[in-house]
Formats: sequence, structure tokens, C-alpha cells
Amino acid sequence: MSIVTVIPGIEGELDLDTGCINWQGSKFGNGYGRKWLDGKTVLVHRLVLESKIAGFLDSGHFACHTCDNPGCINPEHLVAGSAAENTGQMMGRNRKTPRRKSISGIGKLSIAQLREIQTKYLAGTIKNHLAKEYGVDHDTITKILKANIPHNFTTVSPNFLGEIQDNGCILFQGSKDGQGYGRYFKNGKSKSVTRAILALQLGYELPTSMDACHTCDRPSCINPEHLWAGTRTQNLLDASKKGRTQGKSHPLSNAKLDWEKVREIRQKLAAGERMKDVAEQYSVGRKTIHDIKYHVTWKVEGEEVPVPRMGGSLDRKLTFAQALEIRERIQAGESLAKIAPDFGVCKSVISDIKNNITYKGV
Ligand SMILES: [Zn+2]
Ligand SMILES: [Zn+2]
Repeated sequence: MSIVTVIPGIEGELDLDTGCINWQGSKFGNGYGRKWLDGKTVLVHRLVLESKIAGFLDSGHFACHTCDNPGCINPEHLVAGSAAENTGQMMGRNRKTPRRKSISGIGKLSIAQLREIQTKYLAGTIKNHLAKEYGVDHDTITKILKANIPHNFTTVSPNFLGEIQDNGCILFQGSKDGQGYGRYFKNGKSKSVTRAILALQLGYELPTSMDACHTCDRPSCINPEHLWAGTRTQNLLDASKKGRTQGKSHPLSNAKLDWEKVREIRQKLAAGERMKDVAEQYSVGRKTIHDIKYHVTWKVEGEEVPVPRMGGSLDRKLTFAQALEIRERIQAGESLAKIAPDFGVCKSVISDIKNNITYKGV
């Protein structure tokens, strides 16, 4: 019998056949070694793994046995793994179970709670107690213990399942609409996931005139920090700035062009290049460039295009952002005569904005 010290204060008996170092102290019912430390019971093999992998205990990962011997505390037989890998191993299943994108039996529970249940079970809490504590039935607990919860899955309040990406986005794992926005059912109605999350963040329901906008430009992202409440127009401005559109290209648009080219064209026109020259550069007709310039084609869905005045030529003198500012100033009570010179336009332009003749919806 040879007793070896694994880390100071933690010893076990070395099994020369298997190389396992068996903990000789007290154990949980499931065979894991336990130790009283700093006023609480800890799993010995987890302490051992922390000595091998600094920060492991805080990582939320499980200490898994490659030797399938729960009482073993040989650091060489321990690896950090996901809860599911460990649970799978405990239940004698193949540890390399492919990760699933959905989790059965999730019910009303958050991912954090599912992980808690798995952890508590591993720490010795029996299924009946877990069922009572979490208000679910025994079968659900069994399902949860078998559930494969990828380590990068999380729940975003009020309980939407998401997968954390390297860039911080959390992609919704439930059903989505055609544009990739998450949808869920509440009282028989299909609702927007992002609006629900934002409402919780803000503490009030977004009015229908407001959108839940993404700073990250990923419709399925549900990271509350990537969401902001914007007016519909701000959302469209944002979309147009980023070149994102909710639909595909306009049916009238020329197939030779794509959004990247269209943005380039608009930049060139804004910089003063002539429509004729730009048309030549892109081998398209002048009408095509004209329509792009005035957002007749390649417009963001729902975008309001200024309607030309009778007999007048259509020329947008102001950007949407400027129109928005003008509207705000009008609402704040400034006179049209005072606003117009600030934007280098005549009073009628401001008046048209005020009367929703142009820049509708801004
Ligand atoms: Zn071992
Ligand atoms: Zn995001």
C-alpha cells in the first residue's frame, strides 16, 4: 500500500495496476471524494484539478475522470470538461456525444439552473430532492441530468436560450422569422424575442413606434448589451448606414450591382461625381444611377423616399439624419425661418418636412 501526496494536504493510495490514486477520506454516495474546507464541503478531485489548471474552479467546468473512477484524485486522470460530458460519463455513456443545439426538458428553467441541477447531483443531492427544489418532476430531472448543455450556452432573461459567440453575441437558439429575428409564443401570439429582452432591460414595454435595434447587426443576437431602443427611422438609418437591408435587393434594381457597389455609387454621388460618369464606371444606364441616387431602387424596406414636388425636380438636399434633427427642432418649437439657414436650404424645404411631404417617417 503506497500513500502518495497529490497536493499538500491531499493524499491517496496509488493503485499500481491502473495508476489511479484513490482518495481514502470520506466520499459522496456517487464515489466522489469530499473534504471539509473553509467551512464547506468540497469535491477533492476538483481541488486537485485547480492545482493543475489555475482558475479551473471559477471556470464553471467540470472535473472529469479519464479513468472512470470517481474516487481517483490522480491529476493525470482528470480533465476539465463540460457538465454534459461529465454527466454522460457518469451515466456510462460515450463522453463524445455530439453536442445538440436544443436541450430537452428545459421547461421553465434557465441554463444556469440546469447546470446547478447537474452540479448538485454530482455533489450528492438525490433526484427527488432536486425535483422538489426546482418544482419539476422526477423524469424532468433525469432528462436534465442527461442533457448535453454546451458550455457556451446561456439563458438571457426572461429565459431565452442562446449560444455565446467569441465576439460576445449571443445567438438565439429558438425559432426565428425569415430575417433571423427570434420569435416566441405568448398567450397564443408570436412575439419578438429582442423586444421582450429590451423591455426587461428598460423596465417598460417598447412602444410600437420603437424597434429593438442591434449594435452588432446580427438579427438573432439576444445579448442585452447589443440591443438598443430606437425609433423605426433610426433603425432604418442604422440599417442603411451599415448596408443591411431587411429584404433582398429591390426587384427593379440592376442585377449587376450589389449593396457594396450601391454604397460606393452613393458615396461617389455624394462626393459630387456626375451620374453620367458613375453610370459608365459601373456599365449601367444613367437611369439606374438616378434611381439609386434617389433611393427609388436599393432602398431599405419601409424607407420613405421624398416625393418630388409637382413640376419640380427631385433632389434630396438633406440627409435623413438632418431631417430628423430638423423635425426635432420643429417639435421643440423653433421657427422654420430660424432652422432653414442652419441647413442652407430655403424655408419651403423645412416646411415640406414639417408637413410630411418629404422625409416622411423621419
Ligand atoms: Zn484514475
Ligand atoms: Zn450581438
